[in-house]
Amino acid sequence: MPDCIVVGGGAIGLLTARQLFLQGVDVLLLEKGALGGESSWAGGGIISPLYPWRYDDAVNRLAERSKQIYPVLNETLLAETGVDSQLINSGLFTVTEASVEIDDWAKKWSVDAAFIDDVVAIHDIEKTAGAAVDKGIWMPDILQIRNPLFVKALKASFDHHSIAYHENTAVEDFIINNNKVSGVKTRQRNYMADKVIIASGAWSGQFSITKSSVNVLPVKGQMIMYKGEPGLIKRIILSEGHYIIPRKDGRVLAGSTLEKIGFDKNISDAAHDELHHAAIELVPLLSSLPIERQWAGLRPGTEKGIPYICQHDEIAGLYIHAGHFRNGIVLGAASAELMADIILDRKPGFSTAPYGMQAQH
Ligand SMILES: Cc1cc2nc3c(=O)[nH]c(=O)nc-3n(C[C@H](O)[C@H](O)[C@H](O)COP(=O)(O)OP(=O)(O)OC[C@H]3O[C@@H](n4cnc5c(N)ncnc54)[C@H](O)[C@@H]3O)c2cc1C
Repeated sequence: MPDCIVVGGGAIGLLTARQLFLQGVDVLLLEKGALGGESSWAGGGIISPLYPWRYDDAVNRLAERSKQIYPVLNETLLAETGVDSQLINSGLFTVTEASVEIDDWAKKWSVDAAFIDDVVAIHDIEKTAGAAVDKGIWMPDILQIRNPLFVKALKASFDHHSIAYHENTAVEDFIINNNKVSGVKTRQRNYMADKVIIASGAWSGQFSITKSSVNVLPVKGQMIMYKGEPGLIKRIILSEGHYIIPRKDGRVLAGSTLEKIGFDKNISDAAHDELHHAAIELVPLLSSLPIERQWAGLRPGTEKGIPYICQHDEIAGLYIHAGHFRNGIVLGAASAELMADIILDRKPGFSTAPYGMQAQH
């Protein structure tokens, strides 16, 4: 019998289970499909919230910590598994007006963020930028990671360490007696443990015990991907919610839609056209590249984008680690550290109240 069961093998479940295992916890991860096959595969992997100045400190605090963790984590995963997650520094140019809000945010979190409205200077940063990229905030230190490779590296790390997991094993319900969890039910069998962490992404609010108490809803995001040459486009560029992300091998992602239509992962022509139109405004040469692929993922949406990282208010031993919305990768590494602190009863150096169940109501 493991000490702890983690329900869900997206980035959040994988990072949490790995963190706990490395700290001596006997952990078992159960995943209804394939590890890393949902939102964590589909995302853009930008290691910064978009418009981070609009977010609460609770988000920025984890984002700041994650930025320190990722370079080390990437090297460790590479050494353990040989899988390169392609963590690269692309910087992020956000088309926006200057504002006191942005200045205050940059000072508070010690982020290099400069307002630039000179076209020559903008072309020095990204020579392919179009006329619509005429002013904005340049953050040169923003990293990105390639999602499918990152989850592949995490899975390989599980195999490297022999961390226990089962794929194609959906948790159907929790075993709860006298307001205390003692395991989970799956179609195949019951698994017993004194601690259970719900890390089920967009599905985290779908269990009988979480339906009325955990407010996480799916928010569909669609992406398209162009096939280009390495080095053609170098920077992540964001404008009015649309962005392009150039990968190391020359592919360029353009995202993303925000659709609150339930558990639907169908792709649409309307999204294809919206994303393509927005992308060629940012970088006109994209119009000459073939679009190789389109896909959709379901983000675990919460109202303010602040994740649940907490014990369930009423069920002893049941924990929730979900609701990272648009920032599951950027927050994930730090969030897993915090979840491990909570599980192991260690006091983090800041208040965990913003990540509790009460804070979401
Ligand atoms: C288009 C798009 C772009 C994005 N861009 C970024 C970005 O640039 N940066 C960033 O930080 N974030 C980004 N995100 C968000 C990020 O991908 C998510 O926040 C993150 O992947 C959430 O991770 P997760 O592990 O909680 O969820 P998921 O990856 O969805 O994993 C949850 C897992 O739980 C499993 N599960 C569900 N129910 C059960 C059950 N009953 N039993 C067992 N297993 C179960 C699922 O099968 C799934 O594998 C983006 C998302 C999308 C869709």
